[in-house]
Order: sequence, then C-alpha cells, then structure tokens
Amino acid sequence: MTKSPLSAPLPGWTSFSTDMPAAVGGTPLIRLRKASEATGCEIYGKAEFMNPGGSVKDRAALAIIEDAERKGLLKPGGTLVEGTAGNTGIGLTLVANARGYRCIIVMPETQSREKIDFLRMIGADLRLVPAKPYKDPGNYVHVSRRLAEEGGYVWANQFDNLANREGHRHTTAPEIWQQLDGKLDAFTCACGTGGTLAGIALGLHDAAQKAAVKAPHIVLADPEGSGLYGWVKSNDLSVQGSSITEGIGQSRVTANLDGAPIDDAERIPDPEALDIIYSLLIDEGLSVGGSSGINVASAIRTARKLGPGHRIVTILCDGGARYQSKLFNPEFLRSKNLPIAPWLDK
Ligand code: PMP
Repeated sequence: MTKSPLSAPLPGWTSFSTDMPAAVGGTPLIRLRKASEATGCEIYGKAEFMNPGGSVKDRAALAIIEDAERKGLLKPGGTLVEGTAGNTGIGLTLVANARGYRCIIVMPETQSREKIDFLRMIGADLRLVPAKPYKDPGNYVHVSRRLAEEGGYVWANQFDNLANREGHRHTTAPEIWQQLDGKLDAFTCACGTGGTLAGIALGLHDAAQKAAVKAPHIVLADPEGSGLYGWVKSNDLSVQGSSITEGIGQSRVTANLDGAPIDDAERIPDPEALDIIYSLLIDEGLSVGGSSGINVASAIRTARKLGPGHRIVTILCDGGARYQSKLFNPEFLRSKNLPIAPWLDK
C-alpha cells in the first residue's frame, strides 16, 4: 500500500498554527490514481480545498491583506472591498475577521447559493449585483472599485493587484517544488484572476533556475466561454460557448496573468470536467468543484501529449459541497443537458 500523504509531516506543515491566517497553505499534494493509471504518468492535485476558507483563494486573500498592511493602507478597524465570484470573498472575510477588519463583498448573483449563504454566515457585508460583462460599468469588479473609491476603503483588486500572484509565487510554488523534490515536468491550471497560474508558473521557473534544471511545461486550462485559450494559441481573446464552472475564465489579460511563462493551453468542455469530478468523488474519495474538474482534465490531456513517465501537477481549487445545488443537482444538470453523477440520477 502506498503511504498516505497524511501519514508523514509535509514540507511546510507545522504542528500548530498561531492563528487562522497562519493555517493558510501547506496543503497536501494528492496522487490522482485514475488519471495517473489512464495516462502512465504521475498526476498530482494540490489539495487547496483544505485551506481554512475551503479554497485556493485563501492564499490570495492573505497575500493581498498582508501587502496592504505592509504598505500602511490597511489599519486596525479598516474596511476592505472586493468584487469576487465568492471564494476570494470568503478568504478575505475570514482573514479580515481574524485581523479585525471589515469586508464589503460584491458578487454576481449568478454564483452558487452555497457560496452566497456561506458569505452571509461568516459576516460579510454582501452586495449581490446582476452578472454583466467586464466592459459594462455595472460589472461586479467596477461596482467594487467605485464603492472603495467613494468610501475611502481599501480595494483588494485581486485581478490586477500583483500581491495575488506573488503570494502563490512565494508559497504554493515552493511547496509544490519541495513536495516533489523538484521533479515535475508540467503544471496546469485554469485562470480567473490568473494569480494561481502565473504565480505558480513564475515560482516554478524561479526554483528551476536556482536548481539549474529545465523549467516545467506550463499549460493554461480554460473552460468554454473564456477568451484565454484563444489568447495563448493565436493571440485572439474572442469567446465562444459557455460553462457552468465558477471563478474561472476571463475575457482580458489581467495584470496578474500578463508576462506569465505559458507554453500551451487546453480548452475543456463541461461534460469532460463533470465526468472527472464524479470519478474523483466516487473512485478516489475527493470532493471537488468545477474548476478542479477543468484542471484535472487539462492535466490528463497534457499527460497524453507528453507521453508516459511524466509528472504533472494541477490544483484542486475548492470542494464539491460549494456546488451541491449545481454540479450535484440532477434537475439543474438535466436543464443544461449535462452528464449527471450516476448515483444521483434516479
Ligand atoms: N477555481 C475557483 C473555484 C475559484 O474561485 C477561482 C478564483 N476565482 C479560481 C479557480 C481561479 O483562481 P485565480 O483567480 O487565481 O486565477
């Protein structure tokens, strides 16, 4: 039997944390058995759903808050404002609670009921707005920027605030490098702000350069309805199709994404991601959300392109419970003509 990733202390893990923010990061890297067996590669998922707020965005939230503290922008009792698909709002609100700040969270009303309820539960001052494209002044990002300007609050600005990707560059990337002893051939994940992909890509390049070895191949994973696949492949940001995944896909090159060393891209349709999400759950005991399905699908495609014997890492961004009303709701899936988890399809 292979050793459980929890059976030995992992690099970056301490036996206790001084407070909640200190418990962000240090997540296990889990070997994805079915994906590895199907491709003859070793495919690993970084279990970011194990962060205190339940997603990869805890890291960006903490990095942005600590950057604002260092710059003297955020003072005790201060207020933060952010536009978010939900997970950044959860991370920011929890870290703000721990540090004595207030949070105003602006979110498109189309995001999952579970994320909305959770944000209310943890005390966020939540403002739901209609979903509008980025070029519309009513888009949630612009609403949050205006609120910050009008109130004299700190705008987290996760899309264009480079503290986001620097957080990943200095925590997530070194953790992955250490966990695999520098032996990885490729990294892939999807982009919302681009902080996770760009930060990890830059951090892995830093580590490879330091070790004088070849940098891993970096692949952007994109859902349908996003412009980034076309941007990587042919410098064309135009969008086609749509996706039920949340928090990923983008119609512009954010400051966080700009300049990231990206070698290739994969565009993943929702049915391919959903089949993987169902298999991760029922065959491997891993409950993950939509973007994780897109990421693992991209890791499998990357493995097939590279051929057997390679090591590929991706991100398990958040947990499935955050999307029970969508990804695990037969009625919703049927209405979208999408595959339904067989054990739920009665
Ligand atoms: N997956 C989920 C579930 C998310 O909420 C987000 C962030 N919106 C991402 C992936 C993308 O992460 P990033 O913003 O770092 O690109």
